[in-house]
Amino acid sequence: MAEKTPFEFARETLKQLTVRKLAPTPLNYQKIYNEIAQLPIEPPFPADRLLDIAKALPTKTPGQQKQRGLLESAIHQLNWDGVKNALMAYGGFSPAAPDNGKPGLSLVDPPKTLPAPPIEIAPAPPVVTAPALTADFFGQIARMIEFALPALGNDDEHFLAQTQTLLNALRDPGNDAVTVKQMIAQYSHRLSFAAEDQAEIKTVLLKLLHLLVENISHLSIDDSWLKGQTEALMAACVPPLTLRRLDDVEQKLKDVIFKQTEAKSRAVQAQEDMRQMLATFIERLAAMSQSTSGFHEQLEASAKLIEQAKTLADIAPVLKDIVGATRTMARDSQMARDELHGMKQRSEATEAEIAKLHMELDRVSTQARHDPLTGALNRQGLDEAMAREVSKVKRQDTPLCMALLDIDNFKKLNDTLGHATGDAALTHLATVTREVMRPQDTLARYGGEEFVILLPDTPLDKGIEAMTRLQRELTKRFFLAGTEKVLITFSAGVAQLAAGETGPQAIKRADQAMYLAKRSGKNRVLGA
Ligand code: GH3
Ligand code: MG
Ligand code: MG
Repeated sequence: MAEKTPFEFARETLKQLTVRKLAPTPLNYQKIYNEIAQLPIEPPFPADRLLDIAKALPTKTPGQQKQRGLLESAIHQLNWDGVKNALMAYGGFSPAAPDNGKPGLSLVDPPKTLPAPPIEIAPAPPVVTAPALTADFFGQIARMIEFALPALGNDDEHFLAQTQTLLNALRDPGNDAVTVKQMIAQYSHRLSFAAEDQAEIKTVLLKLLHLLVENISHLSIDDSWLKGQTEALMAACVPPLTLRRLDDVEQKLKDVIFKQTEAKSRAVQAQEDMRQMLATFIERLAAMSQSTSGFHEQLEASAKLIEQAKTLADIAPVLKDIVGATRTMARDSQMARDELHGMKQRSEATEAEIAKLHMELDRVSTQARHDPLTGALNRQGLDEAMAREVSKVKRQDTPLCMALLDIDNFKKLNDTLGHATGDAALTHLATVTREVMRPQDTLARYGGEEFVILLPDTPLDKGIEAMTRLQRELTKRFFLAGTEKVLITFSAGVAQLAAGETGPQAIKRADQAMYLAKRSGKNRVLGA
């Protein structure tokens, strides 16, 4: 008799399920099928218990995180090989090839003993079907690896070589899925270490940056002088490290360097002025003492002549000499006095100038980019941040939204509760905004009670969502004026930067949308 086909086993299995009045679950199906096909009955896959174990595994490093993800995915697919590989990689061992030497694609191993039942009668087995192992699929993986590569640094030659080998294998149509799968498994193991290294490098760099900034404040001639800048810098170098934060740190550092160079050259100039004044002073003193001793000599000579004089006529020329010498002496003294006076004035002016420069630097370092009331960026800060974000959009082709919000009926709040309370309300709005928006978003005070928020990597619908969320948060965290709860609302317009558009043009569109929001009843967010 011809051997039965898996299809016949399946049909018989379904029949038996009905005869034995068993629920058509995957487990019952497998049990009966194996019984009919005389295959060993495998114990059921303990997915729940395994998931419990997976959830208990710590994910402190990116490598652990990744392996736990792979483990959970393998459990969901009831894939013992996948579970084994993920656990080994989690424990730091290279995953070995499966015992049968014939792995399928790790994410999609179908069960070995279980063919799919005929379609007309459900139950579908809980197995994810494999995507076609096409060249296109491998090509996608290769591209993904290439995209991720810059983030992993290029200082590990061995890793780069391994990457290149895998890329070649992925793009080689002659390679079979089994070989490629093994290579991917080895590569992903290695990749987890490379990613951990990069995370570590980032942390260490941040620490170094912190140290550097701390050092700058110690090196500065006058501690209070650069305090504002260095404090802002220290605050900026804390995790998470984002490109936007680094940009900010770079800008601030450039400021510090520029101002320090400027102050140093002024100090050097002042020192040179002082040195010259001192030299002139000593020269003058020497000349004075010379002319004084000359005067003395002349007086002594004249005294001798007067002693020897017999007539008044003998004395007259001597007197003339004395008067002449006295005049010269007086003129020299006058000159020296004038010159010293001038030097004193010049030195006072230099001193005042240096003091003014220091004060200016103090002011500039804290206020150049920030609004002192709310701590948000001011117009100058906004212009710079906007230029940075717009150029990033051009470089990376990511969406950028700009929102402009204007507090509703703010004049009334000022009029009823006073200007100081109005100020506190502005600060409250800025605080809530900073807490609600993402760290990479930028808040700037655009005018009196108008603010601009730059939302990088955000398309228009998400920008509107973010502003609506802020609106909701403001109704929850009302502003307290003394004991009175005051609800602050705003109207906002959101514009996504269009191709070829400048930042100010997008803000203008957001402003028009904000105006429409006011016109249509306030307390709303409209897209431009
Ligand atoms: P609308 O809902 O149409 O925006 O009305 P509004 O009252 O908010 O707008 P309007 O432009 O008429 O008034 C804005 C007020 O904001 C006027 C000004 O006195 C006040 N303001 C501007 N800057 C400050 C500030 O720094 N502190 C305080 N307390 N008030 C400010
Ligand atoms: Mg206004
Ligand atoms: Mg207003």
